[in-house]
Amino acid sequence: MTNIISNLAIIRNRIEQACQRAGRETSSVRLLLATKTVSADNIVVALQAGENLIGENKLQELEEKYELLKHVQHSTHFIGHLQTNKIKKVIRYADCIQSLDSVDLALKLHKQLLPENKTMKVLVQVNTSGEISKFGIDPGDAIAFVRQVAALPTLKIKGLMTIGLFSAETGKVRTCFRMLRDLQQKLIAEKIEGVEMNELSMGMSNDLEIAIEEGATIVRVGTAVFGKRIYADSYYWNESR
Ligand SMILES: *Cc1c(COP(=O)(O)O)cnc(C)c1O
Repeated sequence: MTNIISNLAIIRNRIEQACQRAGRETSSVRLLLATKTVSADNIVVALQAGENLIGENKLQELEEKYELLKHVQHSTHFIGHLQTNKIKKVIRYADCIQSLDSVDLALKLHKQLLPENKTMKVLVQVNTSGEISKFGIDPGDAIAFVRQVAALPTLKIKGLMTIGLFSAETGKVRTCFRMLRDLQQKLIAEKIEGVEMNELSMGMSNDLEIAIEEGATIVRVGTAVFGKRIYADSYYWNESR
């Protein structure tokens, strides 16, 4: 059986160690629990242990768990590929969309938010690994993309998100994270009105140390807290599903 409480302690310790090595304050890194396939009961265990940020990939799970979790204080970010026909509900349940990855999606979010008089925090998802299976804006298109999104007053850009390469070669993984940070620095220098660039959401169960060394402010951890998932990640990451 998965011991969520002790796994959390291990992750918190890994974050602390990585921060120490990188000369960073532990409080500068937030832990987001990637809760796809995780039951509401198990999420509650983590929230009651002091966690307060979760991320869901699919509207269906987001919606199902919303009612079951609303009595426990927390924020929810949307971290999966968002299909435009799911926008209406996702903006009801999510506090931030970390996976903004197309102009079409940005325009449709804006169109839905405007009449509701709402705004939405977003992170721009960048494809730093060059794998076609991963969503995200091409790094070379990111500045133009941020400019386009910045023109939509309902969308509040807070930073960038990426899924790094899955590889045992840590140098290659690090290259992805460094690319995201370099892009962040470039975007800061652009001084685009209304755009904040404080957040770098990168690093998962296997590579959070590298991400923290490269400047992550949010690490997204699933497996290392809740155990192995029943579905392959391609179920969540592929367009066809
Ligand atoms: C599942 C998921 C994670 C967490 O992955 P683990 O390897 O289980 O820690 C992080 N980010 C996204 C976008 C995910 O879908």
